[in-house]
Amino acid sequence: MKWFDYAAPKTLSEALALLAAHPGARMLAGGTDLLVQMRAGRKPADLIIDIKNIAELNELRYERASGLTLGAAVACYRIYGDAAVSRAYPSLHQVASLIGGTQIQGRASIGGNLCNAAPSADSIPLLIALGATCRIAGAGGERVARVEEFCTAPGKNILAAGELLVSMHVPAPRPGSGASYLRFIPRNEMDIAVAGAGVAVELENGKFRSARIALSSVAPTPLFVREAGDWLTGKPVNGESIAGAAEIAKAAAKPITDMRGTKEYRRHLCSVLTRRALETAVRRAQEVQ
Ligand SMILES: Cc1cc2nc3c(=O)[nH]c(=O)nc-3n(C[C@H](O)[C@H](O)[C@H](O)COP(=O)(O)OP(=O)(O)OC[C@H]3O[C@@H](n4cnc5c(N)ncnc54)[C@H](O)[C@@H]3O)c2cc1C
Repeated sequence: MKWFDYAAPKTLSEALALLAAHPGARMLAGGTDLLVQMRAGRKPADLIIDIKNIAELNELRYERASGLTLGAAVACYRIYGDAAVSRAYPSLHQVASLIGGTQIQGRASIGGNLCNAAPSADSIPLLIALGATCRIAGAGGERVARVEEFCTAPGKNILAAGELLVSMHVPAPRPGSGASYLRFIPRNEMDIAVAGAGVAVELENGKFRSARIALSSVAPTPLFVREAGDWLTGKPVNGESIAGAAEIAKAAAKPITDMRGTKEYRRHLCSVLTRRALETAVRRAQEVQ
């Protein structure tokens, strides 16, 4: 690995000033993607800005009325270790506990998972399904973007030069709501998803009031299948409705064939995983009604 400078700013404004002065600098959250990519020569950098000491990026705050603020550098173990967050968002607890293994979860952040913008990133379909937004800061001020707009190509995102991700906001769970993420990997853990499905539903009087469905590993970016969720709206909560949405998700997938699976297999997985994730989300929603 080539030499690089290292800075560990304590404030957001300090980090933004460093970023403005060094456009080629890279952010280090947990480093579980970045260091691997730097070692492989895929992400050269002259300056690494460690963002773990900045208060806003380490905020993990859940409020019943306003929802969850998840700082971009918050490591996965803090999410599943927080009883209130785990109770309010069991699906987030689920995703934070399946990224890598225990050692990876001690460092890896959901913000890093999102900024790395891998089509296979496990947290992104769930964040999309939950309707999460991103707080982005740069020298010119701040802006907010929806997670489904964030990834633009494999490894690419909407952050402009000089911008960084501060935090994500997940809306407060409404009564009758539930969510889930399921992936298929050939091993039990420490593998990249062949396909994954993140879903969130809201139920009312035995019908779907709303639903959001997103997929991983079946397109160049995590794929929001808006039409599958819209199709469920107003339909009765039963196996037939769920199977219909799963078929729409399958039809929306644009997978490739690679060493992990053929495109036909991945499409099949989209249907199975969406159906099973919806069944879990419905069960969770019925438990909190
Ligand atoms: C053994 C192993 C197992 C893994 N298993 C999984 C898995 O099961 N599922 C999965 O999805 N991933 C997995 N990963 C990949 C990785 O752990 C995750 O993507 C993780 O969430 C990345 O978070 P991080 O904090 O380590 O990010 P980092 O490596 O610190 O950063 C990732 C990228 O985002 C940029 N970045 C980070 N934070 C910001 C910010 N706030 N603003 C702007 N840019 C930023 C960095 O510059 C870098 O380019 C695995 C990796 C390893 C090594």
